[in-house]
Amino acid sequence: MGDFSMELNEDQLQVLRWVHDFAEGVVRPAAHEWDEREETPWPIIEEAARIGLYSFDFVANCLADPTGLLLPLVNEEMAWGDAGIALAILGSTLGVAGIVAAGTPEQVAEWVPQCFGEAGDIRLAAFCVSEADAGSDVSRLKTRAVRDDASDTWTLNGTKTWITNGGIADIHVVVASVEPELGARGQASFVVPPNTPGLSMGQKFKKMGIRASHTAEVVLQDVKVPGTCLLGGEDRFDERVARAREGKHGKSSTAMATFEATRPGVAAQAVGIARAAYEYALDYAKERRAFGRPIIERQAIAFKLADMRTRIDAARLLYMRAASMATAGKPFTAGEGSMSKLFAGETAVWVTEQAIQILGGCGYVRDYPVERWHRDSKIYTIFEGTSEIQRLVIARAISGVHIQ
Ligand SMILES: Cc1cc2nc3c(=O)[nH]c(=O)nc-3n(C[C@H](O)[C@H](O)[C@H](O)COP(=O)(O)OP(=O)(O)OC[C@H]3O[C@@H](n4cnc5c(N)ncnc54)[C@H](O)[C@@H]3O)c2cc1C
Repeated sequence: MGDFSMELNEDQLQVLRWVHDFAEGVVRPAAHEWDEREETPWPIIEEAARIGLYSFDFVANCLADPTGLLLPLVNEEMAWGDAGIALAILGSTLGVAGIVAAGTPEQVAEWVPQCFGEAGDIRLAAFCVSEADAGSDVSRLKTRAVRDDASDTWTLNGTKTWITNGGIADIHVVVASVEPELGARGQASFVVPPNTPGLSMGQKFKKMGIRASHTAEVVLQDVKVPGTCLLGGEDRFDERVARAREGKHGKSSTAMATFEATRPGVAAQAVGIARAAYEYALDYAKERRAFGRPIIERQAIAFKLADMRTRIDAARLLYMRAASMATAGKPFTAGEGSMSKLFAGETAVWVTEQAIQILGGCGYVRDYPVERWHRDSKIYTIFEGTSEIQRLVIARAISGVHIQ
């Protein structure tokens, strides 16, 4: 286990207080409206950009935090405000992670600032891996990238599905198969720059939760990008392919490398939802009277709250450990990143359900936020690797056996 301290320094605390104020004062009051509208909450993103919270500088500062804890903690605060709006604001960081995981320093410097734009000229990014027949099993991507040597151009064709910010993003990071017979190791990531002809939005999905976050198909039809858009560059890709052909062990696929990096942040969002529901249920239990007493005085209710708080704190510790290890460059030898995402996602679903139970009828109606938190929580056992896939990763890591 990595060495890490839970003591936050004054700089971190100051950032978190600022983000919390935004989550409490701007995000939380808008949550119900944008959940009902099921649209990208542009005014909230604009406000976040105006104060500098949606910006390249802010994310760069968070990423520069040597403890690695700041960005996940920011994720928790934002999702505490509202997970759908948090994803609308933080979803671009998935595209950023895709670029950082695979790109050269020059590509990172060129493209990452463009994932945010400026206040008054906001840009969004998307990370496009999943396809109708390749969700958990990313080795089966059908989207193809073919190189034309003469013009040093790549042509992308295929359809991506379930993409956060898909089709409304300015920068799409697309994972495509170059050498299909090599599976995931024959795949590469490409930046598709803004307004590239041939990229369009397909179906926009109506969802159970996180409804302020845009999720849609991305259709790629003869999309042409220059050779410089291959993340990591041609030489590194050719080297990886050569190693794969020789049967040598190589680094994990480009999609997997990205998900490894983003899991603690996604886990933190789940913890934020759980914390929101727990706090609300605790206050409610102190106020609500039944049979002449506040319901908090019943062990059946108080013990639920004790369990809720215990699991939330445990989930936070797991994501802090994973974030700390990732930043220190320590390998996840027991699948620690997956543990954090698995436990936080399932905790959020469980805690929000308990919160509904504590609120009784009020928990089940839209006049109260708790049912929304439950709907929002469910995605955290599905995207960025389902709970089953996280268990596979952990089980393989701890056993050394290629469990199916
Ligand atoms: C709201 C939303 C936003 C998303 N955003 C993005 C995004 O921005 N970019 C992106 O690329 N993708 C995104 N996704 C896609 C998401 O990552 C996939 O839905 C997820 O990986 C699961 O893939 P699938 O839906 O194809 O399920 P499947 O892979 O078909 O899985 C179906 C079921 O089978 C189980 N299963 C599959 N294989 C195994 C196995 N080997 N062992 C045990 N159980 C198994 C799964 O756990 C699951 O329970 C998003 C999805 C949603 C719903």
